[in-house]
Amino acid sequence: MLERFGKLRELAHAIVVWSRPYSEVPAATDGRHIWVDPSLSSVEKLCYLAHEAMHLNHGHKGCQPPAIERQVCLETAQYLVSFQDLQRVAGWARNPSEMAEELGVTEAVLLDRLATLDGDQVQQLWPAHEYTA
Ligand SMILES: [Zn+2]
Repeated sequence: MLERFGKLRELAHAIVVWSRPYSEVPAATDGRHIWVDPSLSSVEKLCYLAHEAMHLNHGHKGCQPPAIERQVCLETAQYLVSFQDLQRVAGWARNPSEMAEELGVTEAVLLDRLATLDGDQVQQLWPAHEYTA
């Protein structure tokens, strides 16, 4: 897990402040600092830090319009979960919760990652013939 936190430096350099920024959100950035709620789980901290680091990577300095937030979520999910990682777990995991746990991301990040897949990639993960009665 520590290695995964260190890898975020590839995305952006920031001063991480372990404090909840606002009651309604567990993480935020002003373009220089990233605030993260210290009571989050390690997996949640990683996912929120990656999301905020992705904002910094794009030069964002605060909350963004919903369409841009959605794009940041999708890019963060692609950054945290490679297609090879998905292939490794798709064959045996029984549900998104199990997949997310195995991949070390939140279920929300996993669902964002699955939303980035095209039809061919979905077929590669879950070939139709394996589920035909
Ligand atoms: Zn955001």
